Amino acid sequence: MAQESIVSLKLFASGYCESHANIVNPLEGKGKTKFYAVWALLDIPNLGYILFDTGYSKQFNKATQSFPERLYRWATPVTLPENNTAKALLEAEGIHANQVKYIIISHFHADHIAGLTDFNNAQFICHKSAYEEVQKLSGFRAVSKGILQKLLPDNFKSKVLVLEDMADQIAVNQFGITEYQIFGININQFKLIYLPGHARGMLGFIYTRNDQSIFYATDASWSYETYARGILPRKIVKLFFDSWDDFVETQEKIKAFELSNKQYKILFTHCEQTLKYISNEI
Ligand SMILES: [Zn+2]
Repeated sequence: MAQESIVSLKLFASGYCESHANIVNPLEGKGKTKFYAVWALLDIPNLGYILFDTGYSKQFNKATQSFPERLYRWATPVTLPENNTAKALLEAEGIHANQVKYIIISHFHADHIAGLTDFNNAQFICHKSAYEEVQKLSGFRAVSKGILQKLLPDNFKSKVLVLEDMADQIAVNQFGITEYQIFGININQFKLIYLPGHARGMLGFIYTRNDQSIFYATDASWSYETYARGILPRKIVKLFFDSWDDFVETQEKIKAFELSNKQYKILFTHCEQTLKYISNEI
């Protein structure tokens, strides 16, 4: 019998921004904290390379040169070491940017999509409601929701695929989490998941392999520690969150999943634990 082909996954980080620690943890946060911009590379047999988000790129500096986008740079100053962009990190792996076929966009916040313009051959996949919001918002209102239209390639509209239209299967699991099968990939290996609250139509994924079981929950929390201890961010973030109620409910669903699936590592995009996971420290 032919062996089933296996999806492989690798996580990377491209830059970080800094903000006040007491936004993440209002009870104990002191000083500044780093928000790492993690993204993932998937190698899908018979399909090719797919990215899940891109982290920061130099495009972020260009997009935030003038107002109102400049406010974004002031609010969250970004550090992006040389050769740390998704494009450069992939090249170090022997993968050229033009080989990336799809980029799944978890949500349209700048720290997740700043590298999109570096991948000319890629098509983009996102949740329908996320795309609808991006089309609707502009100027200051977009910036206040963390969306920088200037980070989108000019031909974005012709290259975007709406998840609900292209998914093979959409189902709600026993924890109330919506799951999507794409490209015929075995859902026991990889599936996209819907994580509403932090941003409109936010997505994450569940990846399973013998040696790696990951629930990548993007910005459903900024920190594993606060999530595990039930500490919610400072309420001021409600201003740019899509729905606080959904945010709280999504965390509860992830916790229910985790309780019944203890072999899974819950990873959040900006969390220090995720960076440690990437560098094999945990
Ligand atoms: Zn975000």
